[in-house]
Order: sequence, then C-alpha cells, then structure tokens
Amino acid sequence: MNLYDAHCHLQDSWLTPHRGRVFADLAAAGVQAVVVNGSSESDWPEVAALAAARPIVRPSYGLHPWDVGNRTSDWQARLVACLDAEPRAFVGEIGLDRWILDRAKPDDPRLAGQRRAPLSEQSDVFRWQLELAVSRGLPASVHCLDAHGALHDLLRAARRPAPGFLLHAYNGSAELVPAFAKLGAYFSFNGAFLDPRKERLRAVYAAVPLDRLLVETDAPAMRLPAPREEFPPLPTPEGELANHPANLRAAYRGLAEWRGLEPVALAQQVEENFHRLFG
Ligand SMILES: [Zn+2]
Repeated sequence: MNLYDAHCHLQDSWLTPHRGRVFADLAAAGVQAVVVNGSSESDWPEVAALAAARPIVRPSYGLHPWDVGNRTSDWQARLVACLDAEPRAFVGEIGLDRWILDRAKPDDPRLAGQRRAPLSEQSDVFRWQLELAVSRGLPASVHCLDAHGALHDLLRAARRPAPGFLLHAYNGSAELVPAFAKLGAYFSFNGAFLDPRKERLRAVYAAVPLDRLLVETDAPAMRLPAPREEFPPLPTPEGELANHPANLRAAYRGLAEWRGLEPVALAQQVEENFHRLFG
C-alpha cells in the first residue's frame, strides 16, 4: 500500500535523535510522502532543511494559532520568503484555537512562554495567511479547536484556495462536515481518534465524503491508543514519549475499519485525494 501523511511535524526536536530510524521505518511502511508543517518563525528553517535532505518531505509553512501571540514584526516577509524559496511548499499550519483561551491550563508546558492571542487577533492572522495561499494557488492546512463555527463563518466569507484546504485532525460536529466540504475542505483522520473515549468521532468520519478523506499522524504529537501502536513510542530528550510517524499505517487500518473498507481500497482512495489536494 502507498501511504501519505497529510499532516505532521517531523522537524520537531523530539524526533531529532531518532531521525535516521524514523525515515527508514517510513520507507519500510510504504509511506510515499509526508506534509511537514512549520508552525512558527523559529521552526520554518528546520522544515526547509528537512525538505532539502529528505525527498519524501513536502514542506508547508504557516503561523499556528498558538504562535500568533509571539510573532515578530516581520513574520509576513519571512513567510513569503519561505514560500518563494521552495516551489513545492504549501501554506500551514494556520488556524483558530479557542481551547487555549478557554480550556488550557495556565501552566500547560506546551504553551509556556506563549502569549495566548485572542480569537480576533488569530482571525486576522489566519485571514492574511489564507489569502496568501489563495494568491499563490496553494492548499492550506488548518488547525481548529473549539472554534468550528467561527472558522466556518470566516471561510464562507473569504476567498478560499483553489486546490482546497485541509482540516487537520477534524474533531468538529458531523453536521458541519457537509458545510465545510462545500467550501472545499478535506478532512484528515488521526490515529489518536481510535481511543475508545473518542467514539463520537466515528459518526463524524462516516459523514466525510470518500473523495475528501485523508490520513495523518501529527507526529510527534497525538499518540494512538497503545494497543493500536504498531511502532513503539520514541523517548524524547525531555523524557516524554513521541508518536512514531510510521504509525500512519495503523491509522489507515483503523479508518478502514471505521468506514468498512478494505485497507487497500482505502489507501487507493486516499492516494487519489492526496494528489488532488497537494499535487
Ligand atoms: Zn499539527
């Protein structure tokens, strides 16, 4: 089976000590391409370096909503320069996140040192990046937590990228799926959704049109439930455990079960979808 990871962060320092093994495991698992998303000005150069070194990496550059509050005054020029330098690149990860404002703990280590930008500021930065994707004819990868209604309103009122856009790890309602699909959305299923506590999402992914389905890992984030992990988690320099990117294959298997499809048939459909969106 030819596999495609529609959204991950393989430039992340958590994976640096394991890089050789990770790319060998991806090749052995049949992974043909991975979209590696930069999320802040500080990691864009690392995405560029990884894309130059590893042919399966498709680079993507954007300012993630968690990083909006700490952007520099010339973030736009820097982002344009990344896209100018790499003709294969996409726009992302961009998005809206109300979770960091309403639900994240004040001492969440993932948000340490970050100014949490209000939704209006996130929206301004998102709109600018979306328009950048539109003007260049590039697909965009979108993150959304606790803000799907606001995201839908914003997208409906905006110009949208001609190839379409990805709602990565979509966890909004099933009801909003057709509304987003009408605007050009693709939906990437994450293996972490196989956790029995996320059973609600089975109906959500049943509602996604087959020609809009993609699969992702978000690695090193979003681990699969342990019994589903085909590749054991990777120890990080900080003493955490990272999602092994080759668990993409286990995510495909889980989604095939949810959709009642043969894994090979699902993989062929996802391959077509991936090329339609990302070229
Ligand atoms: Zn991500």
